[in-house]
Amino acid sequence: MKRIYMDNNATTPLSPEVLEAMLPFMKGVFGNASSIHSFGQEAAKALEAARKQVADLIGAEPKEIVFTSGGTEADNLAIRGVLEANPGKRHVVTSRIEHHAVLHTLKGLEKQGIEVTYVGVDSHGLVDPVEVAAAAGSGTALVTIMTANNETGSVQPIAEIAAALSGKGAVFHTDAVQALGKIPLDAGKLGVQLASFSSHKIHGPKGIGALFVSRGTRIKPIITGGHHERNMRAGTENVPAIVGFGKACAIAAADLEAESARLAALRDRLQKGILKIVQDVKLNGHPSRRLPNTLNLSFAFVEGESLLLNLDLKGIAVSTGSACSSGDLKPSHVLMSMGLSAEQAHGSLRFSLGRENTGEDVEKTIKTVAEVVEKVRAMSPLSKGARKNG
Ligand SMILES: *Cc1c(COP(=O)(O)O)cnc(C)c1O
Repeated sequence: MKRIYMDNNATTPLSPEVLEAMLPFMKGVFGNASSIHSFGQEAAKALEAARKQVADLIGAEPKEIVFTSGGTEADNLAIRGVLEANPGKRHVVTSRIEHHAVLHTLKGLEKQGIEVTYVGVDSHGLVDPVEVAAAAGSGTALVTIMTANNETGSVQPIAEIAAALSGKGAVFHTDAVQALGKIPLDAGKLGVQLASFSSHKIHGPKGIGALFVSRGTRIKPIITGGHHERNMRAGTENVPAIVGFGKACAIAAADLEAESARLAALRDRLQKGILKIVQDVKLNGHPSRRLPNTLNLSFAFVEGESLLLNLDLKGIAVSTGSACSSGDLKPSHVLMSMGLSAEQAHGSLRFSLGRENTGEDVEKTIKTVAEVVEKVRAMSPLSKGARKNG
């Protein structure tokens, strides 16, 4: 059975070209990029070439890229680093639908006396720039709002928020992990001072990411030691992973327009196909201001978890809520913040398409989803009662 992977917002398969680019640095080229000799210089050269590839994808200067161990560390560096550099300011503004890398970090900081304002979202999962700006005052060190949501794909009005924040004196950070390589990103045009990225969401290796730090931003490191990464992140650089991340960015830059259009067409076909043949399905997220690869649906009268397990038995991998909360029975904080009922949130599935998906995969998925939903609904007492009454 050919398995179909539609969980690319959780992670993506490593691209073969990325692996090829990494291999020399896992074999002969082993130098420490901080060493002065030729072994070190080979590594340093590769590191700087990769930094430029990452910077080019987001319209930044290579100097503005700090490599981290991933998106989670980049979010931590942004939040903790800005608070540390601005000890007189003890307030942060964020949204209710952020990734746990942001929300759990802020929850911990609240216990240490940091005050956090959580801005809500509308039924499409979007924040209001005016509300975000109104929440920021003279004591606000940081505003952190994600560019695109991992569960629904909804894309926030980041440039509008940046404009509304101008003159407030707060640093503006965005978790752009899901947006990278899927929609055009220009750090300058977005108007953010900090942005987080992760390699494994764009067919690069796991365990590597970056924080964009615009020139002049007040921020301190959270991992201290040697003078790596312009004193922003100590520790001998993971050169093979960084080279792989750079290559993944170069491929994403070259393919972005065509691949986004291809994915959007496949996603729309999947969405239309399911909505046409399955009754009582609701689209979650903004219909158009959305990542091209993401489809989140709520199926009435069933648990998303049972749909997921049944689809997995048929070789189709999707997700409920975010991957990080699997095994956890709480309904998605993102969907609940958008006003869904706990039942609707529990009945949700996320399909996130990627480079390896084809039209055939989409047709097979539509057919299989219809079969699985019918089977699970037939067994569900919830379904019979609800349908008899309504
Ligand atoms: C995956 C993800 C992260 C975490 O990135 P890691 O590299 O896995 O640590 C952070 N934010 C968002 C929106 C994500 O989707």
